[in-house]
Amino acid sequence: MVSKVIPVEPFDLVVFGATGDLAQRKILPALFRRFCAGQIPHGTRIIGAARSGFSTAAYRSQLAQRLDRDISLNNADPDALAQFLQLVSYVPLDGSSESGWSDLHDQLSVAESGRVQVYYFSVGPALFGPLAERLHSYGLTNAATRIVVEKPFGHDLASARALNRTLASHFDEGQIYRIDHYLGKETVQNLMAVRFGNMLFEPLWNSQYVDHIQITVAETVGVRGREAYYERSGAMRDMMQNHLMQLLCLIAMEPPAKFDPDAVRDEKLKVIRALDPVEPYHIVRGQYAPTHPAAGDDDDYRQTVGDQRTSTESYVALKAHISNWRWAGTPFYLRTGKRLAARSSVINVLFKDAPHSIFGEEAGRHANHLKIRLQPNEGITLSVTIKEPGPGGMRLMDVPLDMSFADALGTKGGNPADAYERLIMDVVRGNQTLFMRGDEVEAAWGWIDPIIADWQARGDVPKPYESGSTGPGDADLLLRRDQREWRGINP
Ligand code: NAP
Repeated sequence: MVSKVIPVEPFDLVVFGATGDLAQRKILPALFRRFCAGQIPHGTRIIGAARSGFSTAAYRSQLAQRLDRDISLNNADPDALAQFLQLVSYVPLDGSSESGWSDLHDQLSVAESGRVQVYYFSVGPALFGPLAERLHSYGLTNAATRIVVEKPFGHDLASARALNRTLASHFDEGQIYRIDHYLGKETVQNLMAVRFGNMLFEPLWNSQYVDHIQITVAETVGVRGREAYYERSGAMRDMMQNHLMQLLCLIAMEPPAKFDPDAVRDEKLKVIRALDPVEPYHIVRGQYAPTHPAAGDDDDYRQTVGDQRTSTESYVALKAHISNWRWAGTPFYLRTGKRLAARSSVINVLFKDAPHSIFGEEAGRHANHLKIRLQPNEGITLSVTIKEPGPGGMRLMDVPLDMSFADALGTKGGNPADAYERLIMDVVRGNQTLFMRGDEVEAAWGWIDPIIADWQARGDVPKPYESGSTGPGDADLLLRRDQREWRGINP
């Protein structure tokens, strides 16, 4: 099955930070792939902007080298790259001074009126405000303008509020797209399709039938290359405040009245507002550390960041409660960390045991389990209990009903659309459903801030855990105290 590609009208997209890692690795390849898919028409203009002094020809040439491998990956027409590059130009520009802005203005002033204009802020957060202000003062905005803002959106509630205020002084909320690429993943949207498109799950989706829910986002990489950023951030700010909380919202929210941006985001916001404050003993912080003499630098967080006393966490696990009718009494266990045993993002919904087993003790205890894999191998598995085959009594076993999207959607062997492809095209189409609203971000910080303040007040030191492991032992205890255990970290 091949998804239908609906072309958009020609648009203008300016990528601020066009020479940076995110632009080169994600944004421009995503645009190229949408172009190859026939979704981006000729006449569209993609303008890269950064301080580096490239000419358009030089920028195109280095971009061509980057995108060349995408041609074979996507079985794209070799001419497609040359055609795509014709849409691309480059303007040297400094976001924090007046340098280059007149040139950008000149390029954009020949725009046909009414076309969608997207400004993608793929730069550090300190530049968000100055870019918004200059776009405004150089007359580069109109009602059809949209800005895309990357994470991190603030460092805490106060800075997120200040950022929201700055952006709001130049743009309506309907023009601001706060991106969290997790929301662009196929499975994340399928989560809503599975929950709200089927009768099967929703009647069981509550504390009466669900024992608990686990959300795991595990990475094998450490912080090398991002040391300074990570030291200011830590796992709580870098992952929990955005990706894991967004997943929690989608899992726990009430059905919105329609699949419409504000209806969906209203329901997500209600989840965050219903979260209880987390008890300190329901949180485990960890830091990866070398546990054997042969361990390398990458196994040692403190060595990597060059600070033997740092108490920044590279791992966090916590138990959350949502105080509402649907979820009262059902714990949500969330964990995320770096240098773990596997790279995986998985949501496990563990249903309760059947209230009474007619098969007796020897049949064992069996409960249904829905596993939602966000990466790798996006897909959903439902484990159901059946009779063990063969003669000799009634023994039960659990078997998976597996829906791998690669199989179901015919993407095996090819590349499924990347989250950035979907999200950028949503921006062009003006659909904010998969983007965070300002009040959502603030509410998430409002829940996270007291946790971090408590660590700071107590001088909390993260527990060491072995690189390549599943995290600190205390995280296992967090569940064992509740007679539960983490599902494996492997996808
Ligand atoms: P990066 O590699 O450091 O790139 C930063 C970009 O900003 C470069 O193109 C740089 O180019 C440009 N820049 C810096 N100062 C500028 C100025 N005064 N005026 C104009 N351009 C300026 O950073 P990145 O990894 O691409 O990340 C960009 C943003 O996305 C950050 O907010 C980051 O937190 C976020 N993000 C990144 C990733 C990722 O995977 N990389 C993932 C999620 C979110 P010049 O030096 O040529 O000016």
